[in-house]
Amino acid sequence: MCTTVTISEAAPGDVLAESIYDAETTLLLREGVALTNQMLDMLLTRGREWVRIEPRDVLDDCASCGTQLALRKPNGVARPWACNGCGKVYFGKAPESASSAVPADLTLEPVKKLDLTAEEEAAFNEVWEKNQRVGVEQRKHERHAVKLPATVLPLDGKFMISGEPVELTTQDISQGGACLRHTEAFDHPYAYIHFKLPANRELRMLAKVVRNRDCGGAWEIGLKYTSRVIEHSDHPPCSVAGCGATAAYHAHLYYLDSESGDLTFEPDDSCPQLCHEHMLENERLAIERPNSIASVRYPHTNRNGRKGVTVYHPVTRCEKLTTA
Ligand SMILES: [Zn+2]
Ligand SMILES: [Zn+2]
Ligand SMILES: [Zn+2]
Repeated sequence: MCTTVTISEAAPGDVLAESIYDAETTLLLREGVALTNQMLDMLLTRGREWVRIEPRDVLDDCASCGTQLALRKPNGVARPWACNGCGKVYFGKAPESASSAVPADLTLEPVKKLDLTAEEEAAFNEVWEKNQRVGVEQRKHERHAVKLPATVLPLDGKFMISGEPVELTTQDISQGGACLRHTEAFDHPYAYIHFKLPANRELRMLAKVVRNRDCGGAWEIGLKYTSRVIEHSDHPPCSVAGCGATAAYHAHLYYLDSESGDLTFEPDDSCPQLCHEHMLENERLAIERPNSIASVRYPHTNRNGRKGVTVYHPVTRCEKLTTA
């Protein structure tokens, strides 16, 4: 399963699949370590030409048009992204480069609402009850028999939307997943599921389809949650390529011209927002440019090299200003 790449193809964050020895005796890098630029430089200096790495957690190409997506696979948290070539929507963490996929918010209008006739429902419940008694010992999470409407989108193996949204009803839900009723089998590896909860609350999840069971003529669809979905409009993601974490701060450029008295204080368009970790890194690795007043080189913000310093503004404060 591992891949062999040249040192120049290897990227920071790639995980070493095979330990590297110097002249076959001294251990240089142990397998399982995440490579850094320094490690790659060290290997180059020692004349090493290639490394074996674990498969990258990245979706390379759009399945529909072949455009390079470089989208990090959903893991823990995911957002919808549209392919720049064809507009197909994928769920994933942020892309590794800004040009490969664009943020896409979803407005889901279910094309149809599926519910069962009274007879189908009675038959479903009878078989379902029986199955409950059989499976109860194996379950990790307590289940609650709750009837909730849920809009469900089929996803393919690359987390691309591969069908129309339908509205289904839950049979039960738990911490780890949900069981839905359907009039037919749900023949897709993954699903996006959007619950509308009381008091205008919402829950959006990615789930793996773990069960399709004929239940007295209707179907029981078992879903196991894999990631929480955040829409871009909820909280903007961190602007650092490949990060995908929720932004905690807006970046602003601040500069006071001591001669003219002109004050610049404006949003940093080159890097609009940062997560907490990247804000800390931005400060830690900031370098003051020699022979230049109020000019700082940051690893993430002020990419156009304008005069001034970066100041951070918590997004929680901003939201109060922008949401009516
Ligand atoms: Zn595409
Ligand atoms: Zn702000
Ligand atoms: Zn970040």
